[in-house]
Parts: sequence; structure tokens; C-alpha cells
Amino acid sequence: MNSRSLLKTLLLWFSIILLGVLLWKLISAPGPPSGGTSKNSDWLLLLLNVIPLLLLVGFCLFLLQRMKAGSWRGGEIGASRTRTGIGYDLHRLEWGRPLIIGGLELPFDKGPVGHSDGDVLAHALCDALLGAAGLGDIGTHFPDTDPKWKGANSLLFLEHAKKLLTDKNFAIEHVDAVVITEKPKLGPHFPKMREALAKALGVSLDKIHLKAKTNEGVDAIGRGEAIAAHVVATLSSR
Ligand code: MG
Repeated sequence: MNSRSLLKTLLLWFSIILLGVLLWKLISAPGPPSGGTSKNSDWLLLLLNVIPLLLLVGFCLFLLQRMKAGSWRGGEIGASRTRTGIGYDLHRLEWGRPLIIGGLELPFDKGPVGHSDGDVLAHALCDALLGAAGLGDIGTHFPDTDPKWKGANSLLFLEHAKKLLTDKNFAIEHVDAVVITEKPKLGPHFPKMREALAKALGVSLDKIHLKAKTNEGVDAIGRGEAIAAHVVATLSSR
């Protein structure tokens, strides 16, 4: 039970109890003296006095059950739970291949080697989202042994990940990414990348944050032989 439906249930219980108490007050209010009370009305009075008590006991049992199940804790009604996932990806770069980052093809003389389009940013983002939701990783859902994904547009992976998150009642709160490459300069392309990623994930632009780094000439990335990306994704449960 999510927090919203839990709140509705609590309100329903409070309404029922309030109604029961009002009814009890109404029935037990002293009335004008009468010549004699029948045995039937005595039983009716007793029954109406017991109903609010039974409702109160039922409500207490309901609260105990929810607390035991961990779905209600003091101060958490109406609040969402936040989860975080991390994603990382690296691809070798080879001459003459298209360089696709964040769903955008950039003018460059090298591109990633990969089964799909080799989009490191989309792959790391996909892993971060799936990890935050506890849904495995990109290899689980799109194995590189499946010919169906050969040369695939990696934005499709993100669209599929978004559907999985929605099925599990997760909403994307924020994505923070860093792409590490020696060349080309990525900053000028970030606005369009953010648009493409936001569209694939069905979120507003302000939820996608991109950064770029070089590797200061060190290692394979620094020599222009590889490109990598790190992504942290934050989800909330609804
Ligand atoms: Mg990859």
C-alpha cells in the first residue's frame, strides 16, 4: 500500500469512528422519561454502544498491522521514499565509427566499439536507473549476445527502463552524469543531449544534468582510445 492510499484508508477509519461516536452520543443522550423501556430497546441501546468500541479496536488492529508491515511510520504519511543508483560504462574508440553520446551523433573521427550504438552515457544512465529500482542492469534486459540489439539506438534502452520504473511506481527525480573523454568538447552539445535523454525518459529538462571531463592525458581515455561515463540517478516511489 503506498502512502497516498494509506492516508485515504486512515481518513476512512477516522470518519467511521467519528460517525460511530456521534451515533453513540445520540443514542445514549438522556431522553424524556417514559412509562417504561422495552426489552428490545435495551438490546438495541447495548448494541449501538458496542459498535464504536468495535470500530476503535478494529482501527487499532489495522494500525498495528501496517506498522508491523513497515508501511507506516510516524511522520512518513504522504512522504515518498528516495532511492539512488549508480551506473558506469566504458567503450573503446576506433577510427571511422559514429560517435553517439546521449542519443546525439557528434562530428568526430572516432566512435565507440559496441554491440549497440555504443552510447556510453545512455548505457551508464540505464544502469543507474535499473540499479536504483533494483531491476538488475542493462546486460540483463538487453544482452549483447542478442542480435536484436546489434546497432540499436540506446535511447530505446532508456525508454524501456522508464516503462519498467513506471510499472514499479518509481519516478525519476534527478540524473547527474559525467562523461569522460579527451575529445571532442561536449559542452556545446549538452543542450541537445539533455533534450534527447529527457524525451526518452519522459521527464523535464531540469531533471537531467550533464558534465564533461578529460582524463588529463592519462590512460586509455587520455590517449583518446576510450570514452567513459558515470551516472547517479535518484528515484522516488509513488
Ligand atoms: Mg556500453
